[in-house]
Amino acid sequence: MENGGMENHSRPSESKSMKSHAQLHGVLHMYSGNGDSSYAENSTRQRHVFHVLQPLFKALIEKLRIPKEGPIRIADLGCATGLNTISDINFVTRTLTNLCIGSELAVPQFQAFHSDLPSNDFNGLFRLLDRTNCPYFVAGVPGSFYNILFPNSSIHVCFSIMALHWISEVPEAVVHKDSPFYNRGKVWVNRGRQDIADIYSKQSQKDLTTFMKCRAVEIAPGGILFLCFMGRPDNSPPTQQVSVEGEFCGQDFEDAWDDLVTQGIVRLDLRDSFNLPWYFPNSIELRNAVEESGAFEIETVEVCQGVPSMSEETFEQWVKEPNIFGKMKANLVKSFVGSLVEAHIGIESSEMLFQRFEQRAAEHLRSSPPSRFITCTVASLIRK
Ligand code: SAH
Repeated sequence: MENGGMENHSRPSESKSMKSHAQLHGVLHMYSGNGDSSYAENSTRQRHVFHVLQPLFKALIEKLRIPKEGPIRIADLGCATGLNTISDINFVTRTLTNLCIGSELAVPQFQAFHSDLPSNDFNGLFRLLDRTNCPYFVAGVPGSFYNILFPNSSIHVCFSIMALHWISEVPEAVVHKDSPFYNRGKVWVNRGRQDIADIYSKQSQKDLTTFMKCRAVEIAPGGILFLCFMGRPDNSPPTQQVSVEGEFCGQDFEDAWDDLVTQGIVRLDLRDSFNLPWYFPNSIELRNAVEESGAFEIETVEVCQGVPSMSEETFEQWVKEPNIFGKMKANLVKSFVGSLVEAHIGIESSEMLFQRFEQRAAEHLRSSPPSRFITCTVASLIRK
């Protein structure tokens, strides 16, 4: 196979490492629009997870100290685009409205902030908002949740769904060829070297602590913070990010990269310098960060295993036909990491990678059944 794509489309200055958070955050976005691999068309799993965990969030909302005056301000951090963030905010306003009616309080006004990285498709989101009859005032807030996003003590309800496993940057030590921690032969830490996974773990710990410190500044006393993201069981080492075989994108994604290297489509060093900016923390790691901020009472910090990411019926449809399964899995993973892969190896090679991934996922389905369950780390916190 020709080296087409590799020279034409790769952008050496970015692709060497994609290491700093400025570089990462300048490129990362969930695919916009309504196409087959758009985030809007591939986010039902996240919606399902939110739905399953709603009772936990509802129990926390019931503990909110409702402000005596002014609107209740709600922030969704890592909101992406599509309908999920709108229905998540609606869940909060509906729960609070019912609570107020139930206790014969006047229903307050609501102000909602949809926040994500500046490269997020806010326009697509705003167009959807236009069409819904919004029961709240709304604003988009571009910026990283590893920074302060709101004025002091201004937020009453803050939540982040399926986003905090995105670390702020890939640690420099793993992307430099001459570093002893160069992540050779891999694009992630799952089933990788212990010392490299430990570096990711440190980055995640630093990020989680920064996140908690920022929220401590922004959330008003008596306000609440609900977190849910990809996690792993407390007894899994950092090298075992994915706890259920067949869950998420796992080994098939690594194998697809290997295929492209073997076929000469992607240079070895280009593959080795690509690293997924993910780390799936367990409850001990999250608890450490919460405690370090010293600002929150812990209602729960826990790992939820066996969270269904789709209904049984949807799953049965998914796994019926290997080729369709492969296509759907490729679209899903492309919707959230496609932008990073393209920036690293170019559009053409990225297309080939996802075609290969699609085939790998289909083959995998033939040999072993996938899982519809994932592991999430969840926290319900109250600002002291
Ligand atoms: N909450 C949504 C989106 C989950 S996808 C849902 O439930 O469907 C994860 C989102 O986190 C993406 O939109 C991504 O852009 C965002 N994200 C990743 N790192 C971020 C950061 N540092 N700051 C803000 N958003 C971030």
